[in-house]
Amino acid sequence: SLMGAGGDNNADGTCPVIVAARVRPFNEMEKANYHESTLTVLPRDSSILVQNRPGAFEFDYVYGMDSNQEDVYNSAIKDLVENTFDGYNATVCAYGQTGSGKTFTMGTAVNYSSADVDNTRGIVPRAAEHFFAGIEERKRQALEKNMLEPDFDISVQFIEIYNENFIDLFCSRDSRKKVTVYYDKTVSSILVKGVNIRKIKNPAEMLEALKDGSVNRSVAATKMNSDSSRSHAIFTVYIRQKRQIPPESPDAPTDFEILNAKFHFVDLAGSERMDKTGATGTHALEGININSGLLQLGNVVNALVSGSKFVPYRNSKLTLMLQDSLGGNSRTAVIVCVSPSDFNFAETLQTLNFGLRLR
Ligand code: ADP
Ligand code: MG
Repeated sequence: SLMGAGGDNNADGTCPVIVAARVRPFNEMEKANYHESTLTVLPRDSSILVQNRPGAFEFDYVYGMDSNQEDVYNSAIKDLVENTFDGYNATVCAYGQTGSGKTFTMGTAVNYSSADVDNTRGIVPRAAEHFFAGIEERKRQALEKNMLEPDFDISVQFIEIYNENFIDLFCSRDSRKKVTVYYDKTVSSILVKGVNIRKIKNPAEMLEALKDGSVNRSVAATKMNSDSSRSHAIFTVYIRQKRQIPPESPDAPTDFEILNAKFHFVDLAGSERMDKTGATGTHALEGININSGLLQLGNVVNALVSGSKFVPYRNSKLTLMLQDSLGGNSRTAVIVCVSPSDFNFAETLQTLNFGLRLR
């Protein structure tokens, strides 16, 4: 078989999406200026109380100001990585206004650390370790069962969507080719043409690739006098596995299956509204496009969780690219990131409401 097992949507045909909310700590400036918190996080009820709003905002998981990166990974992400070993695609997105902790949570900043001891490591560095530990684990399990070791190919790509254009972050600006993203019926997958895909042999190489792309992203943003908070960054890990199918009898011929999965790690564009940043001209146009990506992501996930027949994947480049990794057999987690400060109250409320709409 080429893909994982058949669909496993809920009985009513809807598709489960994990939605988590994370409140970042106050920064030094906010502390110095005595900003007040508008949120009360209730981890045991998986909910957040919001100042002057009735009722609790309920999520699958909530993380308060003192939450740590390991908790986020173990509760919301770990299982998704495990599932890729059985051929299931996955997507995790960080949503929120600029400065709310998306990049910190995702672990896609340039100044990442691969050190095991670094507790501030975000999702991608943890997943990098997990993928390779998972491979070793599966090889060990196969040997225990007297089966052949599975073969794995791990590779990564890093794409930015800026102004509804795909940009290959593994390519310097001058050598970039035209990137095309399309649905291929024969393999029932979204394929990408014109991007560099790097083979990866260990966690360190994966983080090196992440770093190279992150550097390209910030350099390009500076050159174009733009701002990376206006683009979506999608780091994708491909997991290709050839494994032996357990033989039905001792003298049965050896048979293999190929499992293909991919995991998209998405650091979304800032969700803040344009009027607040005061952008005009080109920037305003960029803003409109980016917001359409965020808007369509909301619409797509909403259609999936409500079991709608039509899912509007093609309305934005972002949802087109994620099409085969949202819904169906795929696992999806969205982490909405918010600031605790009363200064950010409007954006915080918008972000929490965006998250609620996905459940
Ligand atoms: P965004 O990517 O949403 O613009 P960042 O991830 O860059 O936001 O976060 C803004 C700042 O807040 C960074 O300096 C980051 O290190 C810090 N920060 C965000 N979330 C946390 C957290 N949970 N714990 C500690 N520091 C955080
Ligand atoms: Mg960021």
